[in-house]
Amino acid sequence: MGERVLIALGGNAMTAPDGSASPDDQRRAVERAMTHVATLIGAGHQVVLTHGNGPQVGNLLLKNQIAAEVVPPVPLDWCGAQTQATIGVLILNALGHPAAVVVTRTLVDLGDPAFADPVKPIGRYFSEAEARRFERLGQTWRAFPGRGFRRVVASPEPLEIIDASAALALMDAGYTVVVAGGGGVPVARLADGSLTGVEAVVDKDAAAAVLASAVRASVLVVATDVPAAVLGYGTELARPIGRVTVAELRAMQADGHFARGSMGPKVEAALRFAEGGGRAVITSLEHIGAALAGEIGTAVGW
Ligand code: ADP
Ligand code: MG
Repeated sequence: MGERVLIALGGNAMTAPDGSASPDDQRRAVERAMTHVATLIGAGHQVVLTHGNGPQVGNLLLKNQIAAEVVPPVPLDWCGAQTQATIGVLILNALGHPAAVVVTRTLVDLGDPAFADPVKPIGRYFSEAEARRFERLGQTWRAFPGRGFRRVVASPEPLEIIDASAALALMDAGYTVVVAGGGGVPVARLADGSLTGVEAVVDKDAAAAVLASAVRASVLVVATDVPAAVLGYGTELARPIGRVTVAELRAMQADGHFARGSMGPKVEAALRFAEGGGRAVITSLEHIGAALAGEIGTAVGW
């Protein structure tokens, strides 16, 4: 029996193994990723895709920064929307099944504490002089000793995937959908009820957990570049984590096994979805079929 599966694609699905992100690198990486996705669709599963956009947004920001004296820099939410479209069209070209890309907004709260303390670094390192120039345009930059200055933005909690209902309608019509790329374009509700874009980045794994519930997926697959989350990662005692209970995985998380900017958000997303009654698995892209069959990966809620 086919399942409704949400696959959250990490950076390695969109850039070459060495991280390079020329247009050809990105196209080839997406093509490789889509062979695995097409296998699942061919097996009768209904697939919803979401994806990261770090390198792509980084490149757009750099273009904006270099051209700032000539063309006014566009806001971060515009950059997010642009990457949803460009990555989305690569997916459409590569997939070979009827598919649609939903330009997706994610609701955040302007009262989220993340706005008072922006910590998510985006884009490249710049000199102090350049950082000061962009601070005068209202941005927040932070010094990273030994490496330079990098822009930091808020990473607020995703409250709702606003356009999930459009995705559901397309799924009912038989389309594989690409939704909430880059965590979705962050928007906030103003006092008059209208929505406005905000300068923030929603974590794509956090958004995937919310999206998985919104589209009523039975399984959330967090597809990254390691076959499983690991206990004691990077130590001699490293040991992959297989099937675990929510309580066991929460205990490992509390013991500090999952790095903050990488495996941490994936484990948190898996936990949240499992706590809501779903099944979640963290594995590498080439193992998503075996992971769905319960044979590999860090699986919680099964
Ligand atoms: P993606 O780009 O696919 O979203 P990230 O690169 O952010 O994923 O996170 C995956 C990386 O997390 C792995 O390649 C690994 O280097 C790192 N990592 C940190 N802690 C762990 C852990 N406990 N188990 C496995 N990988 C970990
Ligand atoms: Mg990565």
